[in-house]
Amino acid sequence: MTRRKYVVGNWKMNGLKEALGEARAIFAAADTHPGVDVALCPPFTLIGAMAAAAPGKAIGGQDCHSAASGAFTGSVAAPMLADVGASLVIVGHSERREGCGESDADVRAKAEAALAAGLSVILCVGEPRSVRESGGAIDHVLAQVAESVPDALDPQRFAIAYEPIWAIGTGLVPTVADVAAMHGAIRSALADRFGDAAQAIRILYGGSVNGDNAAELLDTGDVDGALVGGASLTAAKFVPIIEAAA
Ligand code: PGA
Repeated sequence: MTRRKYVVGNWKMNGLKEALGEARAIFAAADTHPGVDVALCPPFTLIGAMAAAAPGKAIGGQDCHSAASGAFTGSVAAPMLADVGASLVIVGHSERREGCGESDADVRAKAEAALAAGLSVILCVGEPRSVRESGGAIDHVLAQVAESVPDALDPQRFAIAYEPIWAIGTGLVPTVADVAAMHGAIRSALADRFGDAAQAIRILYGGSVNGDNAAELLDTGDVDGALVGGASLTAAKFVPIIEAAA
């Protein structure tokens, strides 16, 4: 099955209103590559304004709560993201798993809440450096997939992002062979669990993707796109990655 390439920018805690011009430029460039799905995940504060500035474009949150509403000071629920114009959400990013103590069970509950709210999900997995060095990366990631991916999902609205923690924001990237091995292992675990439906689930690579390495990574077997942090903040850096996917 052919899966459309999916290039997603994760702005993390970056971006004031003045950054909307970059978003407009990114989506305008994306329009010239209709074969690639492009999304931006700005901070919560910019989602509504970005949706207004770029109507109909794929805009997402970087996290959501597992409850639909309630006494959770500071949190944002999936239906709230949908309400302000988001169509997707990232869950389980390592900066939340490690920085905010989110477990696989938490991530699974968030993914379930997002799907129930009608959002698409990008669920992140990835190993720390020590696990990669000890040879346990594939086992570690497959355990995260087993525990954090919900049983009931719509494969058209579900993507997994493999993001080795040691590659995020460091300029380090695994070898193409290691990326291919990891994505292949994730694909077969999904096939064991979901059967043919697993072929529609996109598996993105994330971690120090830039305009120079994107083409090689995106040409790697079972790599269906990229989740991009630092290089997604400006059109100058992000558009070459979209072009590499086209
Ligand atoms: P990076 O971040 O591209 O800056 O390495 C990727 C991510 O954390 O999603």
